Amino acid sequence: MGMFDTIYFDKPYLCPNCRAKIDSTQTKAFERTLTSFHVKDCISHAEEIRIVKEELFCNKCSEHIGQYVYLAVFRGILVGVGNSLQEARHMLDDMNLEKLILWYHDLYKKYDGEVRENGAVFRFLRNVVDWFEQGRHKKKRTKAKGLGDIPFLFDKEYLKGAKDPIEAIKKFLTAKQKGEKEADIF
Ligand SMILES: [Zn+2]
Repeated sequence: MGMFDTIYFDKPYLCPNCRAKIDSTQTKAFERTLTSFHVKDCISHAEEIRIVKEELFCNKCSEHIGQYVYLAVFRGILVGVGNSLQEARHMLDDMNLEKLILWYHDLYKKYDGEVRENGAVFRFLRNVVDWFEQGRHKKKRTKAKGLGDIPFLFDKEYLKGAKDPIEAIKKFLTAKQKGEKEADIF
């Protein structure tokens, strides 16, 4: 089967025929697990230092456009995407320990954020189950807050007033997507 990975560019290329934006390329040079990668991501094994050449493909024209990109991989990290072999070689030559450590910190921060986000999703799912199994959606709200409310503290805004789990999940997804959009703007 034709499995591949997708590499996203920092800046899109333009198709010379139709001017459509080309923001990524597919490659079969790495693990082929249908994963998306950006510059600074770990793309393969730590011993790999190489340059991979890929021809750009325009989805709108449905054809290769005769322009190549050069994926520079240093110790398994995608360090850049060059327009020429020479440019990609410079990217490899430019790598040093200082740079790697700073990138590692960026990556770890991203990883940490994703772990937290994942944890929040699991907590929400558990809370949805508990909330509806305990019949809290049917209970009339009283002013006195019991200790039983504490586990639901972070998810109350999605659970309160939802008539069923689907409605709670929809509220949760809407809030998360709104959060992502705002994160994109800033
Ligand atoms: Zn095109």
